[in-house]
Amino acid sequence: MERYDLIVVGGGASGLMAARRAGVFAKKRGEPLSILVVEGNPKPGKKLLATGNGRCNLTNLHIAASRYHGDREAAGRLLARYPAGRSLKEFEAMGLLTRADEEGRVYPRSLQAAAVLQALRYGCEEAGAAIRCDFPVTSVAPASEGGFLLKSETGGALRAGHCVLALGGKASPRHSCGDYREALLKGLGHSFLPCFPALVPVKSASKLLKPLKGMRCRTRATLLKSGCPVFSERGEVLFGEGTLSGICMFNLSSHLVHEDLSRLEISLDLAEELEAGVLEEYLKRFCRDHGTLPASELFSGILNLRVGQAVGKSLGISGTAPLKSLSPQLLRQAARLVKDLRFDVKGPASFENAQITAGGVPLEEVDPRTLESKKRPGLYLAGELLNVNGDCGGYNLQWAWATGICAGENAAAALLRNHS
Ligand SMILES: Cc1cc2nc3c(=O)[nH]c(=O)nc-3n(C[C@H](O)[C@H](O)[C@H](O)COP(=O)(O)OP(=O)(O)OC[C@H]3O[C@@H](n4cnc5c(N)ncnc54)[C@H](O)[C@@H]3O)c2cc1C
Repeated sequence: MERYDLIVVGGGASGLMAARRAGVFAKKRGEPLSILVVEGNPKPGKKLLATGNGRCNLTNLHIAASRYHGDREAAGRLLARYPAGRSLKEFEAMGLLTRADEEGRVYPRSLQAAAVLQALRYGCEEAGAAIRCDFPVTSVAPASEGGFLLKSETGGALRAGHCVLALGGKASPRHSCGDYREALLKGLGHSFLPCFPALVPVKSASKLLKPLKGMRCRTRATLLKSGCPVFSERGEVLFGEGTLSGICMFNLSSHLVHEDLSRLEISLDLAEELEAGVLEEYLKRFCRDHGTLPASELFSGILNLRVGQAVGKSLGISGTAPLKSLSPQLLRQAARLVKDLRFDVKGPASFENAQITAGGVPLEEVDPRTLESKKRPGLYLAGELLNVNGDCGGYNLQWAWATGICAGENAAAALLRNHS
């Protein structure tokens, strides 16, 4: 049976980075290790190619624990030791240059996710780490003679001294091979917290969504729990078939995990820069100055026309009546509605539409300095598999790089210690 010093299971972002760093670390110490990445898909990095709409927002210059969920504090400590600059230095060493936008989101200079994957593939090759595809691992078990025995769905078996599990999450399953994560981890003695889709559209049963379908508008979106704000972000909202999406909604979706949905509502402020009183005065003036226009035009000076008509309809404003017939009370209500358009929350959309997974292995089950499993010495965990999920903007890939570097280097260091 083939035997390797280190086998990395999962040829995605964190796995490729782990293999690269393990290889470079060992080579620099003059003791190269035999390293293999096994990937279940026919090719590595399928999800990576889809990131950032094919442009790959690979990290963010403003990494902060507050942008993460799940085991946030422990994640923050690890990210402080492996910051964005460390990831960028590694990509530069692989020959990949990057550029940041005004909000600190970092992309490859070519704006091609394929360039990031290529850098990692060559980076692994240069570091002496081989990649084997079409090898979906179904079990990892401690071998009687030490190390680990890995078995694949296709009947193959391999032996490893140490092992990094970088299996990713349940989000966007079309980019990942079969889901053996929970069974594999539980088989190794780990717990596995229930998984939820995150960075995903939010479902709502609001009747407003039908007339708004296909529209997008700039808003401040606020998640309310029993009427109190728990999260708020400015951004563009896209109204879909029973869903609200857009980056601010994706970020809002991470706050639905473990919540009683019946207590949640989304409030959209469609005119953030105008105070309610100022808006009310504007609507009154508009009706006074243009009183003969149809009432359906009430919001035509401030909102997208279709959005305005849908909001007007929900107030019972009929298209044929003239603006001058609208009562001051109705205009006050109209101003309030523009500032606070409510949607009920039916939960996140499915994993198929999600960018990331909330849940997975709790960080307390790994050594926070090395990411070595506290259940199985010689086993390391990295990436989305762990109970950490970030906001949109490069935060999730930064987690993948940081954990990949940490797990890869520490696995290599432990193997070298064992050799000597
Ligand atoms: C559409 C989309 C866009 C995104 N855009 C961004 C972005 O721009 N910026 C950002 O920061 N994040 C983005 N993300 C999130 C980001 O892709 C993930 O956070 C990141 O890929 C996680 O890295 P990972 O190594 O943990 O998992 P993955 O990259 O998913 O890698 C895991 C790999 O393991 C393989 N695998 C799983 N089980 C097995 C097994 N049993 N045997 C063998 N192989 C196995 C899978 O096939 C997969 O290739 C996006 C996600 C999606 C879906």
